[in-house]
Amino acid sequence: DSDPTLRPEPLPEDTDRALRPRALDEFIGQRAARANLSVFIESARRRGQAMDHTLFHGPPGLGKTTLAQIVARELGVNFRMTSGPVLAKAGDLAAILTNLDTRDVLFIDEIHRLNPVVEEILYPALEDFQLDLVIGEGPAARTVRIELRPFTLIGATTRLGLLTTPLRDRFGIPTRLEFYEEDELVQIVTRAAGLMRADATPEGAREIARRARGTPRVAGRLLRRVVDFAIVEGEGRVTREIADAGLRRLGVDELGLDAADRRYLTLLAENYGGGPVGVETIAAALSEARDAVEEVIEPFLLQQGLIQRTPRGRMLAPRAWTHLGLAPPRPAPG
Ligand code: ADP
Repeated sequence: DSDPTLRPEPLPEDTDRALRPRALDEFIGQRAARANLSVFIESARRRGQAMDHTLFHGPPGLGKTTLAQIVARELGVNFRMTSGPVLAKAGDLAAILTNLDTRDVLFIDEIHRLNPVVEEILYPALEDFQLDLVIGEGPAARTVRIELRPFTLIGATTRLGLLTTPLRDRFGIPTRLEFYEEDELVQIVTRAAGLMRADATPEGAREIARRARGTPRVAGRLLRRVVDFAIVEGEGRVTREIADAGLRRLGVDELGLDAADRRYLTLLAENYGGGPVGVETIAAALSEARDAVEEVIEPFLLQQGLIQRTPRGRMLAPRAWTHLGLAPPRPAPG
């Protein structure tokens, strides 16, 4: 496709695509979301109408893009993909919308980063399948109304809180994706190993699953690296021992925390006595973007009960002190 606003997916490793499940039945985990989606898909199909606009929110790598592709496939329609930051001008969005076929799925990743001007023209498109475009400038400017074919917008965001209320309200099907359970990740790793034609023992798969930060994308990456260790330094087999040694060398600890996670926890423990510390301060001290801290690092640490969010900032939870092998500070005497 030559349209520059329809970027190809960022595929850090080209096997990523091959590992994506292609049908709802193949998709492991997110049981509640899947059960609801299958009803909405089936109903839209029977009515012969576009499915309602859908919002997937949750941390990166949990399957938002994958699910959106599956929805399009199950609806039997085309899947078009773009992202919030790529749609700079109203015309960029208009070009995409006017090219959609009836009932197509348009996927907008990072939808919390839409330009307000673009967001403004999206509202009538979502509600009435109409575009109001301003043509020309100054006194010669006039508005033209364009009728669109009915379509389904699937938005994805890692930051629900950054979505404007009017945009959020236009999604009939808001769906939150959760971190995966260990057993689900075992199935995902086992399936991925099969697709990669790698030989993984159940214990090897479980070791990777246990340390994958509850995230399929992380599980896939760790599996690929462990397979490398198995081929070069083992006998080609992903055993528990090979997985453990490989993960340790990748800096992934017993809880699945990586170097960035541990730097975060250590900073709070050693420089701030466990907090509370504001997220800006933490981001600056780690030389990380605030967004990355809030979107990538903190959700898993919160889910694991390693940190707490308080009105005055982030605090280390008792479990984090134990994990770091440190004694929590004692309250001042008296
Ligand atoms: P997001 O859009 O939420 O960042 P993706 O949909 O890109 O996440 O998923 C990341 C990777 O994880 C995909 O390449 C896919 O192979 C894998 N993946 C995600 N969810 C699942 C799942 N439920 N079962 C198997 N693999 C999955």
